[in-house]
Amino acid sequence: MSPLIRSCKAGQVNIGIMGGTFDPIHIGHLVSAEGARQRFALDYVVFVPAGLPPHKEMSKVSAPEHRYLMTTLAVMSNPAFFVSRLEVDRDEPSYTIDTVRHFSRQEAAGANLYFITGVDAIIDILTWKDYAELLELCDFIAVTRLGYSLKRLEEAQKKMPGIMNKVHLLEIPALAISSTYIRERVATGKTIKYLTPEPVEQYIEKQRLYTAG
Ligand code: NAP
Repeated sequence: MSPLIRSCKAGQVNIGIMGGTFDPIHIGHLVSAEGARQRFALDYVVFVPAGLPPHKEMSKVSAPEHRYLMTTLAVMSNPAFFVSRLEVDRDEPSYTIDTVRHFSRQEAAGANLYFITGVDAIIDILTWKDYAELLELCDFIAVTRLGYSLKRLEEAQKKMPGIMNKVHLLEIPALAISSTYIRERVATGKTIKYLTPEPVEQYIEKQRLYTAG
């Protein structure tokens, strides 16, 4: 039995589901997950690398298996962090509602669920599949960089009053780092040391990810 199911059976637990493409995972993601864990008293954070992101051109994203392995390498040293293959093993686009339904009905039944991701993704939540059900099943932790303009989130609030009872903002200075920034640095031969855990850096080098040719 997974530690997640075991602890859900044992009593009330709070679980974070960390959704992202993680191409690649970096220190900003890890600091965000740890910040959310502490602020919302989460017992576990499960990283769920997106399989086929519904809104992205797949040819521009690294293979799901690479992103899954890099995420696994990145979270290895934190006993409260896990990685799920749920979305990488799906053949269809990975909609968040399917993932959250899975955790709420099976792997984490009875737990309080928090879906954690970047505010730029959450800002479009009203376009996500079955968003009303999603907002019933879990809370959202929207991680932001310092000084982020929340204008679009305020617009969503006008369309759906009460949404901010379910969306919690968490400012993370380390999010100045982004996956795009890391990919660009690799492509131009610049160091990515300390921007991502060392095993991830080594994986990127060995697999020759993000190089131009
Ligand atoms: P994205 O559009 O690539 O990212 C938007 C911004 O958020 C970027 O600045 C990104 O930085 C940041 N970000 C993404 N995940 C993050 C995380 N876990 N922690 C902190 N910052 C994060 O977003 P995405 O990765 O494709 O999607 C994020 C999640 O939302 C995924 O789980 C995806 O499946 C879900 N989503 C679901 C639907 C749907 O169900 N219809 C639609 C859209 C997104 P980095 O590039 O540095 O990560």
